[in-house]
Amino acid sequence: MSSNNEVPKFGLLTASTPAEAVSLLTQYGDQARIVSGGTDLLYTMKNGVTYKTPNYVVDISSLPLNYIKYDATDGLRIGATTPISAIATDPNIAQYYAVLSQAAATVAAPQIRNQATAAGDIIQDTWCWYLRNNYPCWQNGGNVCYGVLGDNRYYQSIFGGRLTFAVNPGDTPVAYFALNADVTVQGPNGTTNMPISQLLPGVAIVGGKVKENSLQHNEMVTEIHVPAPPANSVSSWYKVRARQSFDFALASAAAVLTMNGSTISAASLVLGGVDVAPHRATAAESYLVGQSLTTSTIQGAAAKAVEGATPLTTGTGNSFRVFLAQGAVSKALTLLQS
Ligand SMILES: Cc1cc2nc3c(=O)[nH]c(=O)nc-3n(C[C@H](O)[C@H](O)[C@H](O)COP(=O)(O)OP(=O)(O)OC[C@H]3O[C@@H](n4cnc5c(N)ncnc54)[C@H](O)[C@@H]3O)c2cc1C
Repeated sequence: MSSNNEVPKFGLLTASTPAEAVSLLTQYGDQARIVSGGTDLLYTMKNGVTYKTPNYVVDISSLPLNYIKYDATDGLRIGATTPISAIATDPNIAQYYAVLSQAAATVAAPQIRNQATAAGDIIQDTWCWYLRNNYPCWQNGGNVCYGVLGDNRYYQSIFGGRLTFAVNPGDTPVAYFALNADVTVQGPNGTTNMPISQLLPGVAIVGGKVKENSLQHNEMVTEIHVPAPPANSVSSWYKVRARQSFDFALASAAAVLTMNGSTISAASLVLGGVDVAPHRATAAESYLVGQSLTTSTIQGAAAKAVEGATPLTTGTGNSFRVFLAQGAVSKALTLLQS
């Protein structure tokens, strides 16, 4: 195992169909992991993260899963290996799913968006610096969340945690939550469909390992499906980050509103970068329904969105991110004021 910034030697297994990828994962068990764009996995391997570094990688990058299809009835279908840059620039996504287009455009930097894939942004590991520096935390075979005890300003939840407090890092998953997306998962017994919230439950214990997603070691995501947007729906995204050029969210907000004239008839509001999974702000959603989008409604919804926050007071503490989350909601909703 390398810990000197060299990628350790590994076996490269190339799959030509999703079924073959699953079969290789089954054959090599815990020794193998999927590699798609490699922007997360190879980085992790280079850092020598013990529990996350496989001996074999199953390359799925040449599978025929690089596509975006839009249909007014069926909605949107995105293949697992579609680059994030394609999601950010697709005209149908920009027109019908602005929140997803805008979230994808704020993922990392252009070079990474060209390489990183749709499913990779969902399944990537947390970027908590304790994990990435191979501390023996819950996600790395140990039994401590170092983030709770130490520097938790950037990568730890303000809504609590279970075992690990590391936040889910992805931007597009926040938009997928707000759009009520579901995913197709291929496993040894064929394909299943699940809501994205089931794929990203926050903390999952799978095969005795603490993870952020519920996939078994021999399952893969093949497609993301987003339902057709309701008529008269509008959506927006706002992300707060330390560096504007590229950075993970200190807090973000994805808003999808369905309007009946100037009255909100349905609201979907999800916070990113502040919880172990994208955080649905249910109290704010209920509050918004039946109201029009005035400045006072927006302020009320922003306050409701952070109700129940329990920022960490150990280590550095991270209560400042409660205010950033509130601000992100306020900005996202303000973008929807006509
Ligand atoms: C400098 C930097 C800045 C970044 N900033 C941001 C940011 O601002 N916002 C953000 O959202 N992300 C950010 N990222 C993370 C980046 O978006 C992810 O690394 C990327 O999306 C992962 O996609 P990939 O295809 O490269 O995945 P890989 O590295 O190939 O894989 C990542 C993980 O997903 C698994 N995986 C991949 N595809 C599948 C599949 N189809 N089914 C099941 N498992 C799969 C792999 O086994 C691995 O565990 C940043 C990354 C870097 C390096």
